[in-house]
Amino acid sequence: MIDRPSPNHAPRPADAVDVLVLHYTELALAPSLDILCDDRRSQRVSAHYVLAEDGTVYRLVPEDRIAWHAGRSHWRGREALNASSIGIEIVNLHGDRHDYPAVQIDALIELCRGIVGRHPAIVARNVVGHSDIAPKRKIDPGLRFPWARLAASGIGLWPRSGAAPIDGDIQAALQRFGYPPAVDVATADIVAAFQRRYRPARADGLADGESRALLADLLDQVGHEA
Ligand SMILES: [Zn+2]
Repeated sequence: MIDRPSPNHAPRPADAVDVLVLHYTELALAPSLDILCDDRRSQRVSAHYVLAEDGTVYRLVPEDRIAWHAGRSHWRGREALNASSIGIEIVNLHGDRHDYPAVQIDALIELCRGIVGRHPAIVARNVVGHSDIAPKRKIDPGLRFPWARLAASGIGLWPRSGAAPIDGDIQAALQRFGYPPAVDVATADIVAAFQRRYRPARADGLADGESRALLADLLDQVGHEA
């Protein structure tokens, strides 16, 4: 762990953290660190951690301070998730096209385990991608992010196959799990965000039977009636 303090942070109440947001940088390590530590930009941004491709972790903002990584966002009925989240920026030029190296994912799992251990309110369903909490506006950490591997390591959820598809209003079911209402974006955009994470082979925004079955299983895992 290398300290690379960013000036871009704000105070928050104790015990406020219950969400972990994963991002990719779209930039190489050096320019990513520069931007996330720059206090002269009109839109100042930061993250708690930056994870290099070789697995090196850079610590930019202490976990008890707010970092500015999520922007306009929504999860489980709450807006503006910077206030209650930890943000990790994973160096990757485009997670729809560039695989994440195994050594980087090993380091990410270790980092996430530490964070979740320090903040027990980060339950599995609250480990999210930027694309989950800002559908359409954001697509990171991308189609190639290994969510199943993380879930197998105890970080976040992954659906089991074989559930009965949910009937009826897909938007309402997505919101029960945590996704935003269709206010800024259409339901198809939110379905696509769900698919980007849980069925990356086809993220077309169509609420088909397979997508409905995956969502039914996830709702079952978190104790909601599908
Ligand atoms: Zn992001």
